[in-house]
Amino acid sequence: MSFDGFVQATRQYAEKEWENIVEGADNDLTPLDEEIIRWAATLDRKHHAVQRALIEHHPEIARLRNRIENLAGYPEDRRLLAWALRPDVVRLMAMRTHRAQLLGHDDYLDFVLKTAGISLTKLEEILEKTLVEYLPRAKELVDKHGLEWQNWFRRLRESFPLEKERNAETLVEPIQEFFNGSDWNRSLTIHMSKKGLAGFARKFPDRSVHVKTHPLTNAVSLKTLIHELSHAGLYLENDPAHPENFLTPPTDEFLATYIEDTVIEKICTQTEKDAIDDVRTLELVRIILSAQFELDLWQRRDIPETCYRMRYERLMPVHDELDWTLDTFRSVDSLLIMFYALGHCARDVLQERKGPEEWGVPDNPAGVRISDYFQPAE
Ligand SMILES: [Zn+2]
Repeated sequence: MSFDGFVQATRQYAEKEWENIVEGADNDLTPLDEEIIRWAATLDRKHHAVQRALIEHHPEIARLRNRIENLAGYPEDRRLLAWALRPDVVRLMAMRTHRAQLLGHDDYLDFVLKTAGISLTKLEEILEKTLVEYLPRAKELVDKHGLEWQNWFRRLRESFPLEKERNAETLVEPIQEFFNGSDWNRSLTIHMSKKGLAGFARKFPDRSVHVKTHPLTNAVSLKTLIHELSHAGLYLENDPAHPENFLTPPTDEFLATYIEDTVIEKICTQTEKDAIDDVRTLELVRIILSAQFELDLWQRRDIPETCYRMRYERLMPVHDELDWTLDTFRSVDSLLIMFYALGHCARDVLQERKGPEEWGVPDNPAGVRISDYFQPAE
């Protein structure tokens, strides 16, 4: 029964993490990190979920990650913060690499790619092909809306207001139907607040799922809520009975993004879709550049600023190359960014091959091999 204990401990962790991030609590996560490691040690190490737990909940890694995530003890000034974060982010990457090597992988990148079932060559090919396709339109939108790297999210929200504010509750039923799910009402809670994180979803020990977003006044928050509800659907409909069925973060992100695109196609009005389409173009380009930067960084930790400038300047000028340390992905798991990108790319591939009507939620989300979505058409 040790797998149940493992799952339950990860959900307790999710709840305490939620309280820290969404409610500003100050829970010490260390006892739960230790408990997850204890359970993971009783399970077969061939499962990716077990290996990931052994890496991410290792006490030293967890402590540093939580410190970076909560920005505990760092300066508030943007530039001083970036300087202070730099060595810690690099150290976190080195620690993850070391743990992945102890588990028999070449490095951390190798571990993540194996979890996702995609090769580095294939990944790089998909990212670059999609980037080249979307870059010209993204540049037009950047000029039109006065976007810069340092004002990106604020400008994005201001530039795409919704004609009519959406009621979040009206989105739940169509998404639930899309999952063929039954009655999410009792187990799903949407928390809406202008403050803090734009999007977050977690499953608690009582199996309830909680989603946090900003109010739905613009296309960015509408797109984000649909993304978080896609996570919620995966968490509500998937109760792993075996480590094999435990959804790992790369697959979780890939599917949530892919499902998000599918759901938008089905349930949004044409005006909403037009606005979301521009946001998607901009975000897809930003995410691909970020993913390519991460691929460089995991191979060249010694020259992050050079890599950052080289990648990000393909869209627009970089005013401060230290900004790379401030990306929210740095602490959580910078490699997850690739799977957002792949989720969006999957839509384009499948649109050519079979059209939106035939896209769907896979029967066994945890068993998805991401590369299967990019096979050439039969
Ligand atoms: Zn997500």
